[in-house]
Amino acid sequence: MPPCTPAFEHESDHSWRYSLLTAAPGLDLRHTGRYPWAAQKYRDACANHWMPQEISMERDIALWKSAHSLTDDERRIVKRNLGFFTTADSLAANNIVLGTYRHIRAPECRQYLLRQAFEEAIHTHSYQYIVESLGLDEGEIFNAYREIPSIRDKDAFLLPHIEILAAPRFTTGTIAADSALLRSLIVFAAMMEGLFFYVGFAQILALGRQNKMVGTAEQYQYILRDESMHCNFGIDLINQIKIENPSLWTPAFQAEILSLMHTAITLECDYASDTMPRGVLGLNARQMHQYVAYIANRRCQQLGLPEPEPSTSNPFPWMSEMLDLKKEKNFFETRVTEYRSGGLAWD
Ligand code: FE
Repeated sequence: MPPCTPAFEHESDHSWRYSLLTAAPGLDLRHTGRYPWAAQKYRDACANHWMPQEISMERDIALWKSAHSLTDDERRIVKRNLGFFTTADSLAANNIVLGTYRHIRAPECRQYLLRQAFEEAIHTHSYQYIVESLGLDEGEIFNAYREIPSIRDKDAFLLPHIEILAAPRFTTGTIAADSALLRSLIVFAAMMEGLFFYVGFAQILALGRQNKMVGTAEQYQYILRDESMHCNFGIDLINQIKIENPSLWTPAFQAEILSLMHTAITLECDYASDTMPRGVLGLNARQMHQYVAYIANRRCQQLGLPEPEPSTSNPFPWMSEMLDLKKEKNFFETRVTEYRSGGLAWD
């Protein structure tokens, strides 16, 4: 691969191709027409803007504080998921700002990554808002990544793939480095945002469907919508890199990715078993394992890989409806204010 000089200086002689990894750094918007899928996702993400404090937590506070309103298993689901997600979205923010952004140089992709980074901050804000609203023990929630093995193991799986991109001396331009970048993008989009979040989403949204913790469930519903777009952007990015750099997509590399996916499935199934040791909310860990397999198959299809658990059906078809959240639609009817862009008065 040629050195990372501005692509547009070379366009006329076609001596080498403009690509995601070699495009001019910075927000040079003269070249935003190359990857329209990225520009469109930036616009779609901005149209989906939301803030945690728009959602009323009053009913959740009353329910949480009333002694017999929730079972211990339901409380465990809320606390475990806040513990996992709060670290996961911090890792996501670090991964974008300290890693991916430096190495993906096409301006329209960087525009989307900046928006994505802001959304990760909104998600962290949301978890803090829920923890404060419910009066939870912050030490218990924010230390869960150290103290709960099913959370710690998922984070430990992700960390090396984040750290490699954030290393100050890491730079693309060799087969080994470009493969490391591609591997990290796949782990991040298809396994972290695309798989590790989904047991938690299904559990919290199942609570909301039973009219419990509806404010928390609505926060997670907005987060699910954002994360679904993060995952789809990541997969588009990966598939574009595959098109531009076919030499990276070797049979050995594909086998390595499938092996990582199998590990990710095991970790997410362990998380499901830990978060629901007994049946709760009409769900059980066995159904969650089936759901994890179904989602993993979908991610592999999107990447052009064989399904790791062929012909697994979706045990929770209602989750698709949760994804179809329109800005004006309030699924759990907890929203108290309308979002206003700009609060300045000019009179
Ligand atoms: Fe994300």
